[in-house]
Amino acid sequence: MAAAGERPSPESPPRVRVGAIEVVALYDTPLVRRFTWTFPDVPAAAWDPYRELYPSAGTGEDFTFNTQGFLLRLPGRAIVVDTGFGPGPHERLGGVRGRLLDELRAAGGDPAAVDTVLFTHLHGDHVGWNVVDGEPSFPRARHLVPEADWRYFRDPARAERLPHIAEQLAPLDELGLLETTEGERQLAPGVRLLPTPGHTPGHQSLMLESEGERALLIGDVAHHPAQLQETAWGPRFDEDSAAAAATRRRVAERLEAEAPLVIAGHFPAPGFGRVARLEGRRVFRAL
Ligand SMILES: [Zn+2]
Repeated sequence: MAAAGERPSPESPPRVRVGAIEVVALYDTPLVRRFTWTFPDVPAAAWDPYRELYPSAGTGEDFTFNTQGFLLRLPGRAIVVDTGFGPGPHERLGGVRGRLLDELRAAGGDPAAVDTVLFTHLHGDHVGWNVVDGEPSFPRARHLVPEADWRYFRDPARAERLPHIAEQLAPLDELGLLETTEGERQLAPGVRLLPTPGHTPGHQSLMLESEGERALLIGDVAHHPAQLQETAWGPRFDEDSAAAAATRRRVAERLEAEAPLVIAGHFPAPGFGRVARLEGRRVFRAL
């Protein structure tokens, strides 16, 4: 039986096209946390207009979000971006189990055919599933981690609160499947890495451009769509709040000005939409 809040797997996971690139949303787990716990500096009542605007992200005290990864399909390539929390069951999430690999298979994907796994950053809700029962889930893939995160999170002072580094990433390193990446970089035709630091030191986004269409996969630049307007609102998970807010503002302005497709893993699933100005506010409109 499904645990509370768990979403049944759709027969075919949601997808969108950006020119020749297909992007499939891979749902992993639900996440439910108090607004006031997640955003300790934002008064509860300040959320009221945004509860109304984005009811699927929570209408009461609880911020309802989720973890997701994405499969990018291009001719001859299969790239996975972020890999959720992992199989679980996750006691801290009410016993839910992750779904990401089931979703990948439901989309017709084959873990053994994935050539690249890219991490926007190295928090635990983005690096699950890579090593299950001691075996790599994507045995032929190079796993690209941001160099600055790799340095930061392996610091012994932080390692203890971040067991996923030892459990999920160190084994990949030992198997020779892990590579670090830094700065802007072309990953595949029309797929480019874009540094967006702050949430973590090496946090990176992904710009997709193909056949005149564009998309920006924003990682954890924002967790709730309200943050595209209230760019100073930071969650407790931002490692450097000031840098994260500056990046959020820059990215939100760009999303409004250039209106690419937005791909946001923590927004109400599947997190596909566009940003527009509506009645004086920068608003996320889901597809
Ligand atoms: Zn996250």
